[in-house]
Amino acid sequence: MIRVEGLTKTFGTHTVLDGVNAEIRAGEVVSIIGPSGTGKSTFLRCLNLLDKPTGGKVTIDGINTLARNADVPAIRQKMNMVFQSFNLFAHLSALDNLTLAPIHLKGTPRAVAEEEATELLRLVGLAEKRHHFPDQLSGGQRQRVAIARCLAMKPEIILFDEPTSALDPTMVGEVLSVIRRLAKDGMTMAIVTHEMEFARDVSNRVFYMDEGVIYEEGTPEQIFDNPQRPRTIAFVNRLRSYEHHIRSADFDLYAIHSQIEMFCDKHLLFFTARHNLLLAVEEVLELSRPHIGAGGLVVKISHSERNGDVTASFTGGPAYPDVLDASGDGELEARIVRSLARNVSFTADDKQASLTLLLKAA
Ligand code: ADP
Ligand code: MG
Repeated sequence: MIRVEGLTKTFGTHTVLDGVNAEIRAGEVVSIIGPSGTGKSTFLRCLNLLDKPTGGKVTIDGINTLARNADVPAIRQKMNMVFQSFNLFAHLSALDNLTLAPIHLKGTPRAVAEEEATELLRLVGLAEKRHHFPDQLSGGQRQRVAIARCLAMKPEIILFDEPTSALDPTMVGEVLSVIRRLAKDGMTMAIVTHEMEFARDVSNRVFYMDEGVIYEEGTPEQIFDNPQRPRTIAFVNRLRSYEHHIRSADFDLYAIHSQIEMFCDKHLLFFTARHNLLLAVEEVLELSRPHIGAGGLVVKISHSERNGDVTASFTGGPAYPDVLDASGDGELEARIVRSLARNVSFTADDKQASLTLLLKAA
C-alpha cells in the first residue's frame, strides 16, 4: 500500500532522515519505536506531506506523492494523521469537529455527515458527549474525538504520532483500547509510540528507527525478544531495566522506592511481584548501607517480558560483602529477603561484587 524508497529529509545542514526504506501493506499495523530525536515524527510528517521530503520516493496505491502534480489534499485524506496533542477546534462541539471537513472539503450533505459522525463517536465510546466542547472533555476523551475526526475523512491509513504521550497515565488505556479496536477491524496504521507493551501486542511489525533510518525491523517478537543489531539490543535492554547509582550511605530511599514503583507501573507488575521487589530492595539497601564504599552501589531492576522474571541486582566494589550472609545483626532482614526470592546468588572478583535476586512473582 505504501512504499518508501530512499527517503531523505534535511533541515539546513542537519540530516534527519538518511535514506528510509519501508513498505506498509494494507491491513498492517506497524509500530515505530526508537530514541527521541531520531526522526520518527519527521518520517510520518514526510509520508503525509506536512514536511516536504528532500529526496527519495513515496508511493501510495501506486501514486507517487512527490510528483509535481500530486493531489496533496487527496493524499492527506488517504493518510490521515492523529497527533500527540489533539488539535481539536475549541469553538466546535465534538460532533462539529467531526463534520467540518466532510461538509466543507468533501461536500458531504450535513445530515449524512452528522449521522456518520455520530456513528464514529459511538465507535470511540463518546456518542453521549457529541454536543460537548473540547474543554468539557478529559484528555483521553479529546484524543478519542480526534481519532473519530480522523476516521470521518475515511482514510485508508492512519498515522499516529505518540497518541498517548500528552495524556495523564489514567487515560492512556482508553485511547489505546480504541486503537486496538481499529486494528481488529483491519485498519492500516503506523503508530509512533513509547508504549512498548501496546506496540508488542497490537502490531504485525515493528520498525526500530535510529540514526535517521529504519535501523532494524521485524515482528514484535523479533524486535523485543531477539533483536539482532547493537543499537536495537541496547534500546530494548534499556526498556527492560531500571538502574540507579547510589553514591553514598546517605542515599534517598524514598526516591528509589518511587522510581521502582514507576518501573512496576510501566511493566504492569502488580501485587506480589511489586511487593516482593520493593521490600527486597529496601532490606538489601539497609543491609548494604554500612558497606557502600567509594565506588557506590548500582541497583539494577529488570523484567523479562518473555518469562515475567523480575530480578534485582546490587553491584558494589570488590569489598562489597554478601549482605545476606549476615548472622546476628541483620540476620532477620536477610531471612526476609531470602523468603522473597526464588533464587539468590552472589559473585565477586577482584573488580566488583554482585548480589542478584530472582524474585518470587506469585
Ligand atoms: P522524533 O520524533 O524521533 O523524536 P523528530 O522527527 O521530531 O524526532 O526530530 C528529528 C530531528 O529533526 C531533531 O533533531 C529535530 O530537532 C529536527 N527537526 C524536526 N523538525 C525540524 C524543523 N522543522 N526544523 C529543524 N529541525 C527539525
Ligand atoms: Mg516525535
